[in-house]
Amino acid sequence: MAKFVYDFTEGNRDLKDLLGGKGANLAEMTNLGLPVPPGFTITSEACRHYLAEGSVPEGLEREIADHLSALESAMGKKLGQADDPLLVSVRSGAKFSMPGMMETVLNIGLNDESVHGLAKQAGGNDRFAWDSYRRLIQMFGKTVQDIDGELFEHALEELKNGRQDTDLTAQELQGLVETYKGIVREQTGKDFPADPREQMRLAVKAVFDSWNAPRAILYRRQERIPADLGTAVNIVAMVFGNLGDDSGTGVAFTRDPGSGRQGIYGDYLQNAQGEDVVAGIRNTVPLQDLERIDKHSYDELLSIMETLETHYRDLCDIEFTIERGKLWMLQTRVGKRTAAAAFRIAVQLVDQGLITLDEAVTRVTGDQLAQLMFPRFSQEGDRKKITKGMNASPGAAVGKVVFTSERAVELADKGEDVILVRRETNPDDLSGMIAARGVLTSRGGKTSHAAVVARGMGKTCVCGAEELEVSSSQKRFTAPGGIEVREGEVISIDGSTGEVFLGEVPVMDSVVVEYFEGAQPDDELVKAVDRIMAHADSVRRLGVRANADNPEDSARARRFGAQGIGLCRTEHMFLGERRQLVEDLVLATSKQERQAALDALEPHQKSDFIGIFQAMEGLPVTIRLIDPPLHEFLPDLVALSVKAATGEATDKDRALLVAVKRLHEQNPMLGLRGVRLGLVIPGLFAMQVRAIAEAAREVPGARPEIMIPLVAAVQELEAVREEAVKILQATGVDALVGTMIETPRAALTAGQVAEAAEFFSFGTNDLTQMTWGFSRDDVEAAFFSRYLEIGIFGVSPFETLDRDGVGRLVRLAVEEGRATRPDLKLGICGEHGGDPDSVHFCHEAGLDYVSCSPFRIPVARLEAGRAVL
Ligand code: ADP
Ligand code: MG
Ligand code: MG
Repeated sequence: MAKFVYDFTEGNRDLKDLLGGKGANLAEMTNLGLPVPPGFTITSEACRHYLAEGSVPEGLEREIADHLSALESAMGKKLGQADDPLLVSVRSGAKFSMPGMMETVLNIGLNDESVHGLAKQAGGNDRFAWDSYRRLIQMFGKTVQDIDGELFEHALEELKNGRQDTDLTAQELQGLVETYKGIVREQTGKDFPADPREQMRLAVKAVFDSWNAPRAILYRRQERIPADLGTAVNIVAMVFGNLGDDSGTGVAFTRDPGSGRQGIYGDYLQNAQGEDVVAGIRNTVPLQDLERIDKHSYDELLSIMETLETHYRDLCDIEFTIERGKLWMLQTRVGKRTAAAAFRIAVQLVDQGLITLDEAVTRVTGDQLAQLMFPRFSQEGDRKKITKGMNASPGAAVGKVVFTSERAVELADKGEDVILVRRETNPDDLSGMIAARGVLTSRGGKTSHAAVVARGMGKTCVCGAEELEVSSSQKRFTAPGGIEVREGEVISIDGSTGEVFLGEVPVMDSVVVEYFEGAQPDDELVKAVDRIMAHADSVRRLGVRANADNPEDSARARRFGAQGIGLCRTEHMFLGERRQLVEDLVLATSKQERQAALDALEPHQKSDFIGIFQAMEGLPVTIRLIDPPLHEFLPDLVALSVKAATGEATDKDRALLVAVKRLHEQNPMLGLRGVRLGLVIPGLFAMQVRAIAEAAREVPGARPEIMIPLVAAVQELEAVREEAVKILQATGVDALVGTMIETPRAALTAGQVAEAAEFFSFGTNDLTQMTWGFSRDDVEAAFFSRYLEIGIFGVSPFETLDRDGVGRLVRLAVEEGRATRPDLKLGICGEHGGDPDSVHFCHEAGLDYVSCSPFRIPVARLEAGRAVL
């Protein structure tokens, strides 16, 4: 028969799935011999059963009763026993920590009789007993009985009348209990349940139910925690920090979660219980002060902290309570930390001999590294913080406040930096978001439109700053403390912390970027990054290349560690003053005219390639032949039509209009582009291949790889390849010829395509677009926020490669491509190449390299290393 309840002595830290983080670690500490009050854990499996069936699983009540009896005999008293009551807490605890999202009830077991027993046992401390009782009714009423917590808060505030809670007398607290019982009666139509076992049973159910509280659901979505895990419930014998000044409760970290430095970090509050420390009801004292207050407990705490660090081999955070000079541990877990602290701590632990370098690499993430690479606000000077919202998209942005997209575009066009401030954004705000340095909203969470779109664009965004009242019509917003900010005033927003400042906060470059750019590591953080990166590089199997189209980006990519270029787009080379030459090509009416236009373009292309080959000094450079539809290089249809209609058009304009109309497509992304262009416009690809070959001839050691885009059938590739090989042979240049795999058909027929391709590079932007049937340029703003909200997917498939769909095509193409050509080179050049989860996928799928934008290269290197470990 299934087992649904575990005593703390039966569990351990590896049972988080079953016992939740809190329960597993309470068990671990118990087994380490640390002072944990006795108790037991009801599994998350029982919760899942309850949530699915609406009733607790058979046998659970019995198991709970048995464990409670055992606890009672261990403690030598019974739950709620009138003359000497055992009290317990009923605490939620899921596999992943969800701070403050779910419920806990303390002091279960008190009623009108046992309150006297508790007082007597505490040496006649009536005040303590009534304080504990009123806390029970308050917590139970709010969590279990769904009574508005404000009602209790309000009654308490009224009674305190400006005094502290510790100033309340026993009589007053007894009176408060009566008031509270009145509230319960009024709100539920029933008396507060006096039966201790009934209290416990209801509290357990309430904790189960709290898994599906709206705020818990929202939190899980944001943090991508699966919705079906359920929570475990811990029943723990109460220990009391509210017995007087020789008692208290506190929280601590084994090292500074901000900087990673070792030391004493924490807060302590005398004569207090549970949440009082974090709730801020009275001022806490720094943990150091505990040495003066209770030296014995302090020393013991420090030694336990050391035990925990050595045992968990990581930073831990801790909840503890002191009951009349006796220290009790109530919780521990491996603590959250900032990105900088993660790197520092990992390396410190290596130096202390607690972990290996392999483990150190697994203790940090690419996302943390990316955070360290964003510019940040200076911490110095007087920063006038006006509010804090959600850190939706990292970065530091300073600019003038604007309230509409039109105004944002208008000012940005004049070269001004602006911050777009909206209550919430919608698809109409896209132009404003693009024009702005940053986006600030007062409504919506991390999956709101503003947040999703901003992250997609890499734009700094703070969302859901609820304290702000935004009035677009009056062109102003207000912040707490009577602050009013009007259009044109400067603010600074920190997308990494969610903070909003009035005025300009100085922005500093990231020291980590300076280090990647070549600066010598001289501070502790950079040294830590250096060691971890070096180790990641030494273990990774995946190569890392860059997407770069010019010599500057190529050079930066190399400094950042690129081992080649995985995608050099050639269409950017057709813009600017060369647009004219493209127009000539499109307008050409004869073979001669067309050839003349191509001949004019060729030297430009050649010199572009020379620059890139030089920057890459013998590393491979994959050059993609022209991909986008030609009309993208021509003037706008509407503008030309207007000119023609108003009679302002020249002969040239009229010819252009004909060409634009001829090339106009309803659905250009599925139209005449990629290899199709190469087959329809004679000489275009040949010119590019010649330019590549000629350039390679002039740069010793150059290693070009020629990549044909948008192939769907091997026949397309064969036709282009034949021509390319002829040119290469004629120039005596050695170059691989391969293709992008970016249509589902190419992936599905990869075995055939590999006959004509020496390498594949997965173009996962198009492949995702065509597999899902999503237009990337349209859907993100149109409905992705809704899709994320209702959980169609947890993350945009354009951000993280969709393993189930697109990933399956990739795996299939890898397998069948290699079957045809065992030495087929395989890479990925979509935006996914710099996304941590996608890098892991590429490692697992057996690709040879990932290619990403120069700035993401360090992230890809780190994740490629982590993928091995
Ligand atoms: P959360 O997960 O929100 O931190 P907890 O279950 O840890 O909730 O409990 C809330 C507070 O009550 C914490 O400060 C905890 O230390 C305290 N607490 C929980 N159980 C007990 C107990 N048996 N004795 C004393 N304090 C307790
Ligand atoms: Mg806790
Ligand atoms: Mg493409």
